Amino acid sequence: MSLNIMLLGLPGVGKGTQAAKIVEKYNLPHISTGDMFRAAMANETELGMKAKSFMDAGDLVPDEVTNGIVAERLDEEDTKPGFILDGFPRNLDQAHALEDMLSKEGRSLDAVLYFTADTQVLVDRMMARGRADDTPEVIKNRLDVNGKLTEPIADFYAEKGILHKIDGAHELDTVFADVKKLLDSLENN
Ligand code: AMP
Repeated sequence: MSLNIMLLGLPGVGKGTQAAKIVEKYNLPHISTGDMFRAAMANETELGMKAKSFMDAGDLVPDEVTNGIVAERLDEEDTKPGFILDGFPRNLDQAHALEDMLSKEGRSLDAVLYFTADTQVLVDRMMARGRADDTPEVIKNRLDVNGKLTEPIADFYAEKGILHKIDGAHELDTVFADVKKLLDSLENN
């Protein structure tokens, strides 16, 4: 039995925080494309150089780069019992690419957890976080870019019957209680 899950939602909705709690409780590897890009930038690797200009502007890194790092990560043994994808897929092309990567090995996503909250909650949380890509202009662009892309992805997984909406506006323990309820029901199926 595997637990292959994807966390969907706009920047600031608390995906990263919830991912950390899921990792702790369910012992699954956390695959965050944003974290992978930030680490590559910090280490000044070739991948980091490629991603930097896009990330600095709050734009998406090109699909061929992003799909490549996810495919490599999903090839690793520790992902076979399950994984938590966070920040990927970000558009429908990436969603299709993910399907191909997984179906090649007879795998598929079990659930997409779609976290939602009002835009003002997202902006306030990102401002409070104060990272280099959390300045007001970059935040606005990230929300614009991602807002347009998130709904079609949610629809794509809703059609497959694996989309689960979670209210991300509550405080983190309340949100995690909802997450746990859902994941436990999947594990027991
Ligand atoms: P995040 O921390 O997930 O919001 O990601 C930070 C930045 O990394 C984004 O603004 C993008 O520039 C880049 N990034 C992360 N995930 C993806 C993805 N799936 N596709 C393209 N770019 C991404």
